[in-house]
Amino acid sequence: MIRRMREVDLFVIGGGSGGVRAARIAAGHGARVALAEADRVGGTCVIRGCVPKKLMVYASRFVQEFDEAEAYGWQIGGDGDPRLHWPTLKLNRDREIARLEGVYEAGLAKAGVELLRDRAVLADPHTVRLQGSGETIRAKHILVATGAAPLMGPAIPGIELADSSDALFEWPRLPLNAAIQGGGYIAVEFACLLQRLGTQVTLVYRGERILRGFDEDLRQRLQAQMAADGIEIVTGASVEAIESVGNARLVTLSNGRTLSADEVLFALGRAPHTAGLGLEAAGVQLNARCAVKVDAYSRSSVPHIHAVGDVTDRINLTPVAVREGHAFADTVFGGRPTAVDHHGVPSAVFSTPELGTVGLNEDEALALHPQLDVYIAEFRPLKATLSGHPHKVFMKLLVDRANDERVLGAHMLGPDAGEMMQLLGVAMKMGARKADLDATLAVHPTAAEEWVTLRTPARRHNT
Ligand code: FAD
Repeated sequence: MIRRMREVDLFVIGGGSGGVRAARIAAGHGARVALAEADRVGGTCVIRGCVPKKLMVYASRFVQEFDEAEAYGWQIGGDGDPRLHWPTLKLNRDREIARLEGVYEAGLAKAGVELLRDRAVLADPHTVRLQGSGETIRAKHILVATGAAPLMGPAIPGIELADSSDALFEWPRLPLNAAIQGGGYIAVEFACLLQRLGTQVTLVYRGERILRGFDEDLRQRLQAQMAADGIEIVTGASVEAIESVGNARLVTLSNGRTLSADEVLFALGRAPHTAGLGLEAAGVQLNARCAVKVDAYSRSSVPHIHAVGDVTDRINLTPVAVREGHAFADTVFGGRPTAVDHHGVPSAVFSTPELGTVGLNEDEALALHPQLDVYIAEFRPLKATLSGHPHKVFMKLLVDRANDERVLGAHMLGPDAGEMMQLLGVAMKMGARKADLDATLAVHPTAAEEWVTLRTPARRHNT
C-alpha cells in the first residue's frame, strides 16, 4: 500500500517571534498550519534575547536605587552593602522564561497549529523534511523564520574559550571580571548590566565609538557615562588570542595589551540562519550576507516560499519580525496584501543610562533635509537633586524647517527612554510637527515634559 504524504497549507520553519505570529494568524484565516521548532518555542527573544536580558537589566538597576535611597531618608541595614545572589536571579529568570514558553505553546495549540519539535529542511520547493523523525510533509506555502545565530568572528587562537550571548544566560556564577568584545547594542547592554551586578568589565571595540548608526550625541555621551561608571572601554583594538590560565582566561589584544578575565563574551553581531536548510537548491536566492532576499511582502525568489524576521536581515528586532509574520499571513491567507512599513521604527538600547531613538539621526536628517533645527535639553533629573547621582538626561529633537517643522527624529539618553520613544513614535507616524508638541500640555513634574517645552533650537543648520 502506498502511504500518501500529508499536506498542509503552510509549513513554518522556526518558532520564534516571526514564525509563531505568522502561524497563529494564518491558522486564524483558516489555513492548515504546521510549525517546526528545533529548540525551544519562543525563539531568541523569549529564550535567549530581549526578555531574559531585560530581566537582568532590571536586576542590575537596583544598584542605583540602593545608592540613591539614603538621600531619601532610607537607612540601609547595618551589615554592609546589598549583595547579589546570582542563583536566585537565574532561577527566577529561567522560571519566567519557561512560563512564557508555555504561553507561546498554548497560543499555537489554541489556534490549531500543529507543533513539530524537530529541525526542518527543504527536500524540494514544496516538501519539508523533519530531520529527527525523517517524515516529509508537502506544503502549499513555506515560511522560513529561522532567525539568526551569533557571529564569533575570525578563528583566532582560543576562540572556543569565548562565549556568545546565548551561553551567558547559562553562566553558573557571576564572573568577577569579564572581557566583552563588540560595540553594538548587545555588547553595550551586557557591559552595563554585568558591571552593575558586580563584574569588572572591559569592553573591547575595534572602532572609535560604540553604537555605530545611532545619533552621534548619544554615542558620545553614553560612552563617556559608561567609562565614568567604571567600565573600561578599549577602542581601536580587537581580541587576538585567548588562553586558559588556571580558572581564568588570558586575553591578548591587537594593541599588544593582555588582560585576565573570568569570562570572555563576544557580541559581534548575528548572521542569518540559512545554512543547511536546502534553500538554494529549492531556488531561493540569498544576498551577500546569506539572508533570504525578499520583496515588500516577504516573498522570496520562489513565489510560494516567504521569509520573515532576522533571517531576512532587514531590521533585526522582535516587533519587526512579529509585524512581518502577521503581514505575511494576512497577505497570503487573509486576502489582504500588506507590506510592512520599515520606516520610523522606534527602538531602545537597554544600557544604563537607557538610550531611545526614533526616526533619523542628525547626520542622516541633515543629508536629506538641510534646513534642520536641532532642539536639545540636557538636565539633571529631579530624582538626582537629593541624591547627587551624576547621570544627566539628554534629549534631542530634529525638526525640518522647510517642511512645516515636521519632526524627523527624536533621541534620548536617560531613564525610561525606551518607553518615551514608543509614544513619540506614534506621534511621528501621525506626522507630528513641532507645533503639535508645543500645543501639548506637559505632565508635571516628569522628564517627558521636556519634549513639549523645547523652545529654542540649540543648532540651526543652513540658515
Ligand atoms: P528567532 O526568534 O531567532 O526564532 C527563530 C527560531 O527558529 C529559533 O527558535 C530557532 O531554534 C528556530 N530554527 C532555526 N532553524 C530551524 C530549523 N531548521 N528547523 C526548526 N527550527 C529552526 N529585539 C528587540 O526588539 N528588543 C530587544 O531588546 C532585543 N534584545 C536582544 C538581545 C539579545 C541578546 C539578542 C540575541 C537579540 C535581541 N533582540 C531584541 C533581537 C530579537 O531577539 C530578534 O530580532 C527576534 O527574536 C527575531 O525573531 P525571528 O522570528 O526572526 O527569529
